[in-house]
Amino acid sequence: MSNLKYALDKLRTDFYLDGVSGRYGSGKPVPPPSYVLWDCTRRCNLNCVHCGASKETYSAELTTAQIKGIVDEIAALKIAMFAVTGGEPLLREDLLDVLAHARQRGMKTGIATNGFLLDRPMAKRIAEARVHSVQVSLDGTEPTHNEIRQNRRSYTAAMQAIELLGEIRIPVLAVATTVTGRNLPELDSLRELLLRLGIKLWKLTAVMPIGRAQSAEMSLDRERLVSLFEFVRKNNGRGIHIHLGENLTYLGKWERKLRSGPVICPAGFTACCIGVDGNVRGCPEQPDTADNREGSLLERSFTDIWQHGFGRYRGREMLSADPNCSTCEWKSDCFGGCWVMRSGNRHCIRSALA
Ligand code: SF4
Ligand code: SF4
Repeated sequence: MSNLKYALDKLRTDFYLDGVSGRYGSGKPVPPPSYVLWDCTRRCNLNCVHCGASKETYSAELTTAQIKGIVDEIAALKIAMFAVTGGEPLLREDLLDVLAHARQRGMKTGIATNGFLLDRPMAKRIAEARVHSVQVSLDGTEPTHNEIRQNRRSYTAAMQAIELLGEIRIPVLAVATTVTGRNLPELDSLRELLLRLGIKLWKLTAVMPIGRAQSAEMSLDRERLVSLFEFVRKNNGRGIHIHLGENLTYLGKWERKLRSGPVICPAGFTACCIGVDGNVRGCPEQPDTADNREGSLLERSFTDIWQHGFGRYRGREMLSADPNCSTCEWKSDCFGGCWVMRSGNRHCIRSALA
């Protein structure tokens, strides 16, 4: 990794973050986000052990007309990317209609899926909607994946999805793996499989301390984190780009060995998430609860919510409210870590690696 590139990226990132934080509460507008995620449904056809999509109840999902109206507004702000997550997005029958609409309005589109419903007709519809990127979840070898996903056909379905997406030549095809204590020993086998499948981008995200993933078997303690970092150091760029997710923020002495540029929590700075019923929050991994909501798109415009909300992110609340963070030597790189990891007290890599 080039130290110069990293240093320049860090300067650019700090300039941007300071600009947004400085404008917060000043009455000056902040730039629109670079991407918006739509948590389009909490319905799911699987019941994964590490799932963060808690079963909040909603009186209704946004209708097709409502989400298309929202898409029109955010497209007019020149937001580059509109991506969907869930639940399982492909369960929404209007999904590709909405994504085609976003594409027509000039945005790139993306889908994160478990692949279960991605058969040949669905692949054709994805191609017709000109979806830019699809990320398929794969959490280990066949027995492990099926065990984690609690469905004995889920691995075969994910593999079929990957092959079909390769056939339609989706511009960006990524595989996403949630790394747990359970699948960590399988990363080498998984890498070999992905190389055989021709996958160029592999997103590794540390398991979040939410839902059913809080057991000792699943979580990443110090030893497991180091083992994960060693794996990425050894294999990144060897036939496949490995992206280590931003919920592990600053990595200390590992940072420049594993990343070519700084990684920040994008919530409220470069991204936000539209929830199932139109409430906006920082990130899809956060529970869609009142304390995480910035406002409802059924009552206010996206611009109004983006310009006047997100105070705790832009005001760096994690640094000011946590004495460990406010005095930490890493604070200008880490900014207090990931909000969701913090909910389970797994946000601090520094103390984990001490
Ligand atoms: S103490 Fe806070 S700022 Fe420092 S590394 Fe831990 S989470 Fe990050
Ligand atoms: S809160 Fe955590 S998971 Fe969400 S965007 Fe920030 S770093 Fe990522």
